[in-house]
Amino acid sequence: MSTNTSAEGPPFPVEPEVMVVLSTLWQSGHGAYLVGGGVRDALLGIPVSDWDVATDARPQRILAIFPGSTYQNRFGTVLARGLEVTTFRRDHRYADHRRPDSVTFSEDVYEDLARRDLTINAIAWGRRGPELAPRLIDPADGQGDLETRLVRAVGDPSRRFDEDALRLLRAVRIAARLDFAIEPVTKRAMVAHAGDIEWVSEERIGSEVRRMLATEAPSRSIHLMRETGILATTLPELDALPTVTLDQALAALDEAVAEAPGNERLALAALLGETGADTAGSVLERLRVAGRDNDAITALIAAAPELYSSDWTDADVRRYMGRVRPELLDDLLALRAARAGDDDMARAEVELRERIDSQRAADSPLTLADLAIDGRDLRETLGMPESPAIGTILERLLGDVIEDPSLNVRMTLLTRASLILDELVQGGRSGTGRPPIR
Ligand code: ATP
Ligand code: MG
Repeated sequence: MSTNTSAEGPPFPVEPEVMVVLSTLWQSGHGAYLVGGGVRDALLGIPVSDWDVATDARPQRILAIFPGSTYQNRFGTVLARGLEVTTFRRDHRYADHRRPDSVTFSEDVYEDLARRDLTINAIAWGRRGPELAPRLIDPADGQGDLETRLVRAVGDPSRRFDEDALRLLRAVRIAARLDFAIEPVTKRAMVAHAGDIEWVSEERIGSEVRRMLATEAPSRSIHLMRETGILATTLPELDALPTVTLDQALAALDEAVAEAPGNERLALAALLGETGADTAGSVLERLRVAGRDNDAITALIAAAPELYSSDWTDADVRRYMGRVRPELLDDLLALRAARAGDDDMARAEVELRERIDSQRAADSPLTLADLAIDGRDLRETLGMPESPAIGTILERLLGDVIEDPSLNVRMTLLTRASLILDELVQGGRSGTGRPPIR
């Protein structure tokens, strides 16, 4: 079938697989269109990986037309040949400023476009059926806004944000990602509705913020949120920072993302770095960041501010390395480098990295796991019972070994362990305040 000829083909590249879904719907007598972010990005010349298809075919009918297709969600979106196919709808009644209470299907592509959030997201390409030539349908002049690089709500901005507060975050994220300005009336409506963010679930805010961090210059999102008052309702801990301090965090954030795109941990650590580890931990919890990542990020934030200077001994370097788990060391170095405010600091960071690299190359012991003995050795060789004293002794030995790696030999450590044990027992007897050992 010649669906992709120059006369009938789309004004942008579309994979043959996607065209097959469209033409199957057309051949079955239905109207079907590419819509949403895919069309927007394609018109901007950005490669598109996930297309959305909208059609007048009802979900049951879509399931029948595409063997093996399945429901994607409870609103009747069908996954057909890997594509999301959604029946035209008009949304109505937004009781909780968030999602519509119900969906009503529609036969009309114009109705479907009218319920979309931004003009640039409300452009469709397709046709009503096999008899007509496919074309772009753009009732809100999204192409005009693509041309002038503006994010503008479809219809009455205030009403649209009132209906669904998530649109506030979407507008910010999409403007920031495309480096578009927000059209003034739309922006005023965002300011007026900034408080409505309270209707958006913390989990959803978390996922939007993380998507913002995955854009090219995430500081743009934070700036837009600050300008519109959305930061105060979304991330009040950041909004409360002095402007200079927040700007420092944002500079580090952009730097970190430029150096290590896709490293979400590092981005979150840079974003929240100036709030302190405890505050960052509670923000991350609220944003529903997984506990493991939360621990890693707060450890990075706690360790990053320590100033390095050339007079650190090698033992100082090893002690510093022990501040985070070995697998976080590269993120720690990247965070420090991103935070370096001037050339002198940047040079110092290069030196620290070199010194850390040579410690890593020498396989220097840094953690309890690197010690040549473990708790079992203390129990079996020194006859110690299971007790906190074992941990105390191992920590002391680790301190010694970090100071002088040549001590990390089984016999040497066992000898030292028995000396430390004697010392602990003495201390217990003479009542120096140390707890008795057994
Ligand atoms: P992204 O590039 O992040 O995927 P997108 O615009 O494609 O951006 P999706 O979440 O994939 O975002 O949504 C697809 C389309 O559905 C949007 O382009 C928009 O037309 C519409 N849409 C999504 N969420 C909303 C909403 N909350 N209100 C109105 N329309 C929405
Ligand atoms: Mg999309």
